[in-house]
Amino acid sequence: MSLRTKSASDSDLRCCIKDTHTTTKSTRTNDNAAASGPYFEDFQIIKGLVPPTLEQISSRQVFLGERTQKYTLFLDLDETLVSSRTASGQFRLNLSCELVTLVRPYARELIEKLSSIYELVIFTAADQGYAMKAAELLDPHGKHIRRVLWKDHCIPSSDGLYSVKDLRIVADRTLSEMLIVDNSLVSFAFQMANGIAVSSFYGKDGDTELGFLLTYLLELHEEFDAVETNKANFNFC
Ligand SMILES: [Mg+2]
Repeated sequence: MSLRTKSASDSDLRCCIKDTHTTTKSTRTNDNAAASGPYFEDFQIIKGLVPPTLEQISSRQVFLGERTQKYTLFLDLDETLVSSRTASGQFRLNLSCELVTLVRPYARELIEKLSSIYELVIFTAADQGYAMKAAELLDPHGKHIRRVLWKDHCIPSSDGLYSVKDLRIVADRTLSEMLIVDNSLVSFAFQMANGIAVSSFYGKDGDTELGFLLTYLLELHEEFDAVETNKANFNFC
């Protein structure tokens, strides 16, 4: 497998972060986000998930080492920071062939700027080889991303269709110290308060979602309790 990189510049994708940010500052209601809206399908899937067992969590246990920032921020790869597909246009299905990886607009800027105030960890449901190559595209000098977690660190749903990124696998951080960004709510199904949802990126030009995400995370970092504030902003639980 090899990855070629390409940048995208224009898009009309829905901006979850923009919507959330605007809403929380002005007209947010107390309606639970699960009830309707763009997350409805994700919540239908989540309702059918069986919570991971302690054995499943402990078998994937990781230690991040000495804490250098107040919060650790986990960033999804596919359709969040990048979009990869085969030369014939298929999305990443066969890892043995060459992939074209589109880096989402603002992805590198986001990583560079946030690395001075968050501990950054890539957390993907993809395999290790792909994860490491994509992380290298985003952080070529290895200065900003502290750690990469991949498929082996995810917990599969009982039907094998979904991968859950359960933050409880991190043994040396508390849930109040961790946030996770993902285009799928299913990924953080069991830590909704920690989850930051973004729209999915498939390579369309002009996408600005990560610009809004950057603004959101810079402001969130200033909060006394970022997880509690995020929970109230997204209103997922
Ligand atoms: Mg994703």
